[in-house]
Amino acid sequence: MRRSSCHLRGLYQPARPPLREVLVRRRQHRISGREHAVQSPPSFLSSQSPIFRDMFSIPQPPAADDTMVEGCIVVHLQDTMKDIQNLLELLYDTWSVHKFHKPLHVSMLRTMLRMSRKYGFKHLRQEAINRLRMEFPSTLREFGESLGEYRFIDGEVDEIEFSVMLLAREQGIKSILPAIYVYVCVNRHSEDLEKYFVENRHILPVDLPISLLLGRDRITRAVATTTFRWLNKGTVPCKECTIPAVCAATARMISMQLLEMPTANLVQRAVFPWDRQRLEGAPLCAKCVATAKEVFENGRKVVWERIPDYFGLNDPALAGDWDEDEGEAEPEKL
Ligand SMILES: [Zn+2]
Repeated sequence: MRRSSCHLRGLYQPARPPLREVLVRRRQHRISGREHAVQSPPSFLSSQSPIFRDMFSIPQPPAADDTMVEGCIVVHLQDTMKDIQNLLELLYDTWSVHKFHKPLHVSMLRTMLRMSRKYGFKHLRQEAINRLRMEFPSTLREFGESLGEYRFIDGEVDEIEFSVMLLAREQGIKSILPAIYVYVCVNRHSEDLEKYFVENRHILPVDLPISLLLGRDRITRAVATTTFRWLNKGTVPCKECTIPAVCAATARMISMQLLEMPTANLVQRAVFPWDRQRLEGAPLCAKCVATAKEVFENGRKVVWERIPDYFGLNDPALAGDWDEDEGEAEPEKL
């Protein structure tokens, strides 16, 4: 085997055009050359991957001419061309990974997780998991602080939550599942979910649609007994209320709003912080606000703790061998 450089050949999906090859060619540390090619000596891949190191350390018999490209051995990989191209881009342009102000596309995170698991690029896997954990935190406090635009990941607007949800399940990144399931429920109305389930039924885990819808239903039904339990008779107006008639009217108005609210908005009522509820109507007095807010925050904590149960995320079939602390979770069988 010639050690100065090698060519990696990847797989296309069956439905795609005929097999093509990736030529690995390095020119001044930049991706260049033909067909998204970069040049890479085996020593470079070996220095970052124990799998490639073992692969290149095995003595090879002289290669036949038809297995060589431009005098280099061809290495066949059972990965998609997209994953191979992304991997090479990540390895040669490491600055792009560490620029935290620049979000990484979900497809790049997918490559980092899949290829790092397969070939032992541990730093790429940890980096991908760190970004996902910052974007979809596991604690209620961090979740409340993370609301808003995505800061560390990027993707197609219509698909980003769905893509991350599937990726987290595939890679066994259990800690981000509650937050991403909630995001899907908040950002996608019923029509969006139906469309996604129908169009992607061939790739979705069998349990996912029903567990997602059941969880969404459980969260919305919990609103009345948790975060908005203070609307129940006797809580507001509170005993120290300064404007009982106004606070009672406000409570009735908010109750009516909840009854008419779309499901996605109801999920927000169960998990978003008090100051992001944006309920319309006459104000409550300061005493009633304090009473209501205390009940609300206690209810919100209860909902958050129950979310794994609501979505069936504690199912032993999903728990399996997950060991995310080491970033080495076993992938879920889809
Ligand atoms: Zn009051």
